[in-house]
Amino acid sequence: MPTPLPLLVGLLFASPLAAANEPCTHLLTEADTIVAQRDRDALVGVTRGEALLAELPDAQGGCPVAAAMLNAAVGSNLHILGRNAEALVRFRTALDWLAGTDASAAQWATVHRGAGLALADSEDYTGALDAYLASLDHSQRAGDALEAAKTAGNIGNLYNNLGELDASQRFHEQALAGFREVGHEPGVAGSLINLGSVAAKRALAAEREGDAETARAQNQRLHDLNQEALALFTRLGNERGIAYAASNVGLALDRLGDPAAALPFHERALAIRAAVGDLHGEIYSRVTLAGSALALNQPARAAAHLDAAEALLPDDAETVGLLLEIVRKRVAVAEARGDFREALAQQREVTRLQDEQASRGHAERVAEIQARFDSDSQVREIELLRSAGEIQALQLQRQRLWLGVVVLASILLAVLAAVSVRRLRLGHRVARELERVARTDTVTGLANRRAVLERLDLELERARRTGQPLALVMADVDHFKAINDRHGHDAGDAVLVAIGDRLTATLRSQDTLARWGGEEFLLLLPATGLDAGLAIAERLRRAIASAPFPVADGAEALTLTQGVAVARPGMTAQALIKAADQALYEGKRRGRDLVVAAATG
Ligand code: GH3
Ligand code: MG
Ligand code: MG
Repeated sequence: MPTPLPLLVGLLFASPLAAANEPCTHLLTEADTIVAQRDRDALVGVTRGEALLAELPDAQGGCPVAAAMLNAAVGSNLHILGRNAEALVRFRTALDWLAGTDASAAQWATVHRGAGLALADSEDYTGALDAYLASLDHSQRAGDALEAAKTAGNIGNLYNNLGELDASQRFHEQALAGFREVGHEPGVAGSLINLGSVAAKRALAAEREGDAETARAQNQRLHDLNQEALALFTRLGNERGIAYAASNVGLALDRLGDPAAALPFHERALAIRAAVGDLHGEIYSRVTLAGSALALNQPARAAAHLDAAEALLPDDAETVGLLLEIVRKRVAVAEARGDFREALAQQREVTRLQDEQASRGHAERVAEIQARFDSDSQVREIELLRSAGEIQALQLQRQRLWLGVVVLASILLAVLAAVSVRRLRLGHRVARELERVARTDTVTGLANRRAVLERLDLELERARRTGQPLALVMADVDHFKAINDRHGHDAGDAVLVAIGDRLTATLRSQDTLARWGGEEFLLLLPATGLDAGLAIAERLRRAIASAPFPVADGAEALTLTQGVAVARPGMTAQALIKAADQALYEGKRRGRDLVVAAATG
């Protein structure tokens, strides 16, 4: 009669005669089980892992490697639950405990990649990249081509999010080659979708620059890559994959000016999304289909899709962007029907919604909402993918990360699809506007805090790669409150705009000037050391002090206090900003209108 495993394990733990490594083997098995648990119920995985760790006689229970892997297993469940800060603590502990052990390269790779995923989700892109690269290195050393391909895909995604398309493409190509090498078809399909996402972004960029030829070539590439992915998903019987790829093929065909060919692809995507209850996917598909129908001069069909999309729209203010897109298409439908009275009424509604969207402070909210909307849909998608995949639970476990990649890429494309149909130019303008608004300060038109933080991560990474210095300047207008007190808040705003203009005129083209908040500005100076940084700040100081700023009833002299810090190797964005901030406050303390270098060391 077989002994129940827990009992056996209990005996081994209890017996002083048991070989030391047997409980370790058991813990390693447990760690594997807990990693697999994240695809079923991550909370259960966390509880189980924490209980096991608590049971160990001392922190590591004499099994540093197994205890480390257990921590990593708990971390990966926490990551699924969105508890990234806790996940990171677990991964860091795991890495600490692995140090100095005989852990295998594959084990190192797993822990580094887990940490990378959690860091990327915490928007620590530099940290994530370091972790991924470490993982990749270990996988390659372990000869684990599949793990290496997955990590290459993660890196490709990271670069895509940062807008570094060359790097993104390189890593996705590496992932594709790896997945092909080991014959991992879901991975191949995912990489094709990801490469398609890069092509889609390149096409948009080319269009923005008026380079129609490149735009066309990239849209063709988007089409071809997704056709190939579609064939693979079809063979694998992966319905959701089919929906993504089909929707992307349709998008490419729309952009290539062939809406008639796009139609069946959008309809196929719609049917699958409706069948699996993917609400947002369904709305996107319907709005897209309305656009195709309009392009084919079928207003009745377009109207039916718009009615259905609007009926599906969740009833909250957060969907104003989607509603705007629907109402815009209603204008086109009315025009196509020759009902200009109705067209005018709908156009008024467009204007009303636009005003609502553009109202002061709303722009920021739109960006925030868009981000939340996207990540909510992601969570929903992943959940659905999981429940649909109960049947293929085993396969899913191995594909989970890849699925995340597909979801991300597809959401990007779905958002693009929603805004680029018949009125291509208009659609792109909306997408571009959203993108711009999310990164622009509404008062000064400078980059906002979010944009400059993204830029800073990129520049830090670049500095790390190239070994060049990076200077950061924090600038605060002195006694600005007095301007508001004397002339009112609106006049204060106008002065802020003028300050922004004067600073911009003084900077070099490679520098980034952003409004950090209130009357504070942040400057990124790439390839700039401390001396040059101080010289630039001094130039800015003089530019502000050189002439007063006009206000309604005269002019006001203003001064600027600045703190300058230079990134040391391995310095985080946060630490760099803090250093500049402290220098700025030192300047205020010393009497203002000064440039102060941060104490580094
Ligand atoms: P200090 O030299 O110590 O920096 O003095 P300060 O008055 O500039 O500093 P404080 O931080 O006390 O006040 C900043 C003021 O800037 C408060 C607020 O009146 C003004 N301010 C912040 N944001 C805006 C804005 O968006 N528009 C306008 N008009 N004023 C703003
Ligand atoms: Mg101030
Ligand atoms: Mg201030």
